Amino acid sequence: SLIATDNKSIVVGLGITGLSCVRYLKSKGHSVEVVDSRANPPGLDCCRAEFPDVAVHCGAFDVELLSSANQLVVSPGVAISEPAIKEAQGRGVRVTGDVDLFSDVANAPIVAITGSNGKSTVTTLVAEMAKQAGVNVAVGGNLGTPVLDLLDEEAELYVVELSSFQLETTQQLNALAATILNISEDHMDRYSSKLAYLQAKQRVFQGCRYVIVNDDDLLSEPLMAESMKSIRFGVAKPDIQKFSTLKEGDETFICHGFEPLININDVAIKGTHNISNALAALSLGYAAGISMDAMLDALKQYSGLAHRCQWVRCVDGVDYINDSKGTNVGATLTALNSLGQSSIGKLLLIAGGEGKGADFSALREPVQAYGRQVILFGRDANKLASDLEGTVTVDKVASLDEAVKVAKKNAQPGDTVLMSPACASFDMFRNFEERGDVFIKAVEQL
Ligand code: ADP
Repeated sequence: SLIATDNKSIVVGLGITGLSCVRYLKSKGHSVEVVDSRANPPGLDCCRAEFPDVAVHCGAFDVELLSSANQLVVSPGVAISEPAIKEAQGRGVRVTGDVDLFSDVANAPIVAITGSNGKSTVTTLVAEMAKQAGVNVAVGGNLGTPVLDLLDEEAELYVVELSSFQLETTQQLNALAATILNISEDHMDRYSSKLAYLQAKQRVFQGCRYVIVNDDDLLSEPLMAESMKSIRFGVAKPDIQKFSTLKEGDETFICHGFEPLININDVAIKGTHNISNALAALSLGYAAGISMDAMLDALKQYSGLAHRCQWVRCVDGVDYINDSKGTNVGATLTALNSLGQSSIGKLLLIAGGEGKGADFSALREPVQAYGRQVILFGRDANKLASDLEGTVTVDKVASLDEAVKVAKKNAQPGDTVLMSPACASFDMFRNFEERGDVFIKAVEQL
């Protein structure tokens, strides 16, 4: 198997995306092998069952094996800076990823969404807008179905959420419309600096027709010199051709230019961050030619995804909110500010998990302003505790269940208990969904 053939691909990293790559490459008649550094990667059984003839090599990457391929299709879970991958690349092996393979053959326009927070919300919202307009839309990527599994002869529009990891291997996306919603610190365990993280995200703009720029976040601007048509959005300061908000008396409207489109009270997703998400979705949908009426209908109907500032239950006058998808500091900051402003009482924040090397001190201000107590659990509880020292009472507990019980004991009527961990979940849970479900169950048992 060490002799290079003309179309030998090695998929690096198994799992849902890796499996979608194997499926696609096999369907194109490639000879395919898989490598994964883990002894028992997720998807191994599925891969063996679906493709008994595909060799799967588990354990440390073998440079000779990698160099025997024409191309390495690297999964988002693996950094392309891995020495063995770099070495193979130096020997002339092409390094690519599922998004590039997808954009090479996609038969309909692509709307692409990246950013630190709000990706899934905006992605599903744009898809809802398209559906409302009767467009046959395929939606997925980092959220849900991997891009290669979306390919469909009948599709009229692809709406895809992309992570910075997926974009690392993306050379030419050629999207119709693309956006970096916002940039805050995340994944600092994998990037050498915020700039390196931003550079990965910038790849979303390669070859795109319309860039959708967030005027409220300068880091969302394309850094490349090419001139592309831009559509701007931002909550503050309406302007010609911009999607923004406009005050008329006591009411606030989403507007295009200076024309009011919809009262923000009629937008089903709540909070300033979600108005920003709504504006981003309108801009993307506008670029994709979706009718305005359909987009506004979707804004009235779409009430958001589970695990994103999701109201769970009110117990003894205390609201319990599940924001398990708050997996970085920026997301938790948003949740604290948004709920802090709207809550009658104070906030009890449940946080913690795998902190990915983040600095949590940005949370000090809203915790001080709105917090009653912070309850910490998980691997980086100590790091969080030291970054929040001197704000409000900070307690550490052994489990999420216990955190909910402690919150119940200390909360007063009018308060809000917010589980927004500012951390990844994989130290204690399979994923953020499982963490959210554990929280919901604990709250239901109160
Ligand atoms: P992503 O897919 O980028 O993780 P989601 O749409 O799933 O984003 O939202 C995750 C969390 O991020 C939300 O629960 C909320 O706390 C926060 N968030 C959502 N939209 C924004 C935004 N535009 N700006 C800042 N934070 C946001």
